[in-house]
Amino acid sequence: MVRGMFKSRTFRRVFVKTPGAETKIHYRKRKPSKAKCGGCGVELKGVPRERPYKMQNIPKTAKRPERPFGGVLCSKCMRKEIVVRSRSE
Ligand SMILES: [Zn+2]
Repeated sequence: MVRGMFKSRTFRRVFVKTPGAETKIHYRKRKPSKAKCGGCGVELKGVPRERPYKMQNIPKTAKRPERPFGGVLCSKCMRKEIVVRSRSE
């Protein structure tokens, strides 16, 4: 019987084959939710979905698109924001 904390779905289940051809269940922490656009709330592309300790080892250029507001706004909202800012000047 597994420990009580593993009975809920708080942890995800990973099926691992052992050298003895047995299948064991390993319990791992779930990934965080996907990054959302700050303007419209759509899921952002090119932003990895990993736990902080893995994000530490990923290069900065691989963590978000290399453009203004990359990783914060989607491309549509970025275009709108740039137009709004240029008009207000
Ligand atoms: Zn957006």
